Amino acid sequence: MAPKKVAFIIILNLAFAACLSGEIEAQTQYYIGISEATWDHSTLRILFIPKEEESWWNSGLIDSTVQAINMWNDAFATFASLYPDFAYISNLRLNTTESAVATQGFDVYVSWKEQLTDNSPETIGLTQPYTLSGVIESCNITLAAKDALGISLADSVRQVVALHEIGHALGLLHSNYSDDIMFNRTSFDISVLPISNLDAYGVARVFRWRSFSSQFSPSNQKPSSSSVNLPSGIEYEYLNAPQQDPLSRTISSFLRYIQTPEGLVRLLSFMIIIVGFVSIVSAIYRYYRPRKPRAE
Ligand SMILES: [Zn+2]
Repeated sequence: MAPKKVAFIIILNLAFAACLSGEIEAQTQYYIGISEATWDHSTLRILFIPKEEESWWNSGLIDSTVQAINMWNDAFATFASLYPDFAYISNLRLNTTESAVATQGFDVYVSWKEQLTDNSPETIGLTQPYTLSGVIESCNITLAAKDALGISLADSVRQVVALHEIGHALGLLHSNYSDDIMFNRTSFDISVLPISNLDAYGVARVFRWRSFSSQFSPSNQKPSSSSVNLPSGIEYEYLNAPQQDPLSRTISSFLRYIQTPEGLVRLLSFMIIIVGFVSIVSAIYRYYRPRKPRAE
């Protein structure tokens, strides 16, 4: 390979590497979107409406949702104890009731369908809030029992989707971090992600009126930007994270990441760098290798 060609490949690789390191640097700034509307009370009554008469129904659908709600309640308590400035979040509580029919007077209604592919093939959870004058009046969550191929969702996927949709019911929008439960798509992964301090902080910001008074008043709901970062001095971390060995955590994180558009682009770029590097090394080797003396 000609020296000019080698130099070109080196420059191309250095440019790729610079782009990647720049993007990784920018990525460390995690943020989460929050709703303009808030709830005007801090104990939310959630009604489960099971579909026991349906052939696809199974009680695991309720169990995974209950586990997700318990995780949220635990996260409020842990976040409040770790960060005294937001201790008021410990007053937030999600209470659940079960009924075969939709009864009036609840805040959040959770129901299930066999599939939710009307909007898009990937949809497995939906949340529809109803707001009035900046206050969330009620919210409907619909969860799928099966994916677009008609395969029952694994318990871990159901739990992750329930965590995400309850996050929306609490007033959260999406996070830019692929390892956060509020990332805008669920990846096909076997582990349930814990709730992060960014998620809990987002909820604290939605309920910021609670830092002034136990009674809601519009004047206590100070204006806020639509997306928030953790306050300076607080690093992103999971709340109540179960023990997991570092290798499987890294593999899960990597699998989730390469299912995102930018993760896929970065993986392809990395592969191009590797191929380029191998080409450079082999070109240099070919250029400088001792030549066999030609027979005269
Ligand atoms: Zn979402």
